[in-house]
Parts: sequence; structure tokens; C-alpha cells
Amino acid sequence: MVFATPEEAAKDVKHVARAFGANRVGITDFDRRWLYKHKFSDMSKQSKAQELPEGLTSVIVVAQAMDYELVKTVPSALSGAATGLGYSHDAMVVLSLAQYIRNLGYEAVASMNDTALAIPLAIKAGLGEYGRNGLLITPDYRPRVRLGKVFTNLPLAHDQPLSFGVKAFCDQCQKCSQNCPVGAIPKDAPTKLQHNQSNIKGVKKWTVNGEKCFSYWAAQNSDCSICIRVCPYNKDYRKWWNRLGIKLAATSLRSFMLWLDNKLKFGKRQQPKKWWPL
Ligand code: SF4
Ligand code: SF4
Repeated sequence: MVFATPEEAAKDVKHVARAFGANRVGITDFDRRWLYKHKFSDMSKQSKAQELPEGLTSVIVVAQAMDYELVKTVPSALSGAATGLGYSHDAMVVLSLAQYIRNLGYEAVASMNDTALAIPLAIKAGLGEYGRNGLLITPDYRPRVRLGKVFTNLPLAHDQPLSFGVKAFCDQCQKCSQNCPVGAIPKDAPTKLQHNQSNIKGVKKWTVNGEKCFSYWAAQNSDCSICIRVCPYNKDYRKWWNRLGIKLAATSLRSFMLWLDNKLKFGKRQQPKKWWPL
């Protein structure tokens, strides 16, 4: 045993993940409910059974922040850089972390959007709460994150889910559903509705129609993320007044904070040329 306790191991792994560049890191159990059963090869057009080593016990989930100023320009080709950079950092972190764990003598499989649904695992690992826009909302980078994970059999202490008022705020706010250009985000209360085969069965939640969403991306030749830009949680939290505002949004003042967000026109699109004057 390399570490005296799973708590000590978890502390070490989080320290190393942050050293490799992870903005947030949490750990949960290896929960097969969120695993994809098959993987599909775009090259061969064939699917085959998911292959993971036996005996995995934990999932380390990491989140990488996306650039606030770039996200203000969505939808745009330029804003794709925020997504691409998030995933590039993600790849570096999960591959390096998996190698570190293998060097300790344990199994470790790095994964990005493949192998398992990332958001349920991230919620279980205490990285954030689920929003109406179908995304993870973290306490610090809010909806502006990209997720990666490492499956391992290294004995690790697990984190607990956290709550900081997102559900109550989303119950009142509909900015993402009102601004989605293809109506892919629900306006109503959470349900078990399955729009199509791209949705998971049997989970009561706000379910985004992913196929409508992705068709819009394809038509635009670019990703979208309007539901991230307009979200009142998407702010620059280096500014103290935004940090204060978000604390008030978790209280009975949430309606006022939502009114203020609209009044001050937060979430308005910024012209890409303002970010990149040529
Ligand atoms: S990314 Fe765009 S199209 Fe997709 S759900 Fe969000 S706002 Fe709608
Ligand atoms: S825009 Fe409003 S309803 Fe949508 S996820 Fe953000 S806070 Fe929730």
C-alpha cells in the first residue's frame, strides 16, 4: 500500500491533479449506472462492448474552466477556442494523472467525453450542481467548465454532492430555455421525459433535446453554448460584486438578482471583433 489511508491517497491525487492544471477535482465511486455499454468507431462505423479493467472502484473527475471573455462571443467560430482549450487542458490533466497512478502500481484509465456520462459522476464527486441547461454548474467557474475523468482501483476516499442553491434558482430562471435558438431546453419542471435515443432513461431531471441542439451546431458549422453565455451564473468572479451577487442568488433575494441580471444585460453577446480587433 503506497498510502496509509484512502483519505491520504485522495489528498495526494487531488494535489497532483491540480499540479497538472485541474481547476476542480473530486472523487466518487465507480458507479456502473453512468457507463456507456458500447463504444462506436467513426472510422469502422461499428460498435463494440465497452472495455474497462476489472476491479475499478473510483472515478476521479476533473473540471477545466473555459475563458470568460471568449464565451461572451458565442455563438462564433472564435468561441470554439474556449471549448477547444478546455478540452486540451483536460486531455493533459487526465492522461498525466492516469500515468501517475499507474506508476504507483494501480489501474488507471483516462477518459474525456467517452466511456461514461461525465455530469452525473461530477455531481456525485461534489464538483457542482445540475442546471436547467443540462450542464454542471460549479461553485467557482459556474457553467463554464469541461470535464474529464480517470477510472482507477487505487483506494480513494470519496467526496459528497454539494448544494449551493442552483435548483431553486433554475426553478425561477428560464434564461437558457428562452434563449436557446431551437427550443432544446425545457421550460417546465424536471420530468423523466426522453426526447429521443440520445437521452438517458428513467432519470427525473431537466432533459435537453441533444439531437435538436446538435443539429443547430451542424447547421451553424460551429458549436453554440448560448445556454452558457446567458446563464446568470456565468460571470467574472474575480470581481467582488459578482461574488456577492451570486451569494444573494442563493437566498430569498433570487428573484431580485434575476431581475438585476436582466436589467444590467448580463449575458449579452459580445462581437468577436471586440475580443480580437484586426
Ligand atoms: S448549445 Fe445552443 S442549441 Fe444547444 S441547448 Fe444550448 S443554447 Fe440550445
Ligand atoms: S440560465 Fe437560468 S435556468 Fe438556465 S441553467 Fe442558468 S440559472 Fe438555470
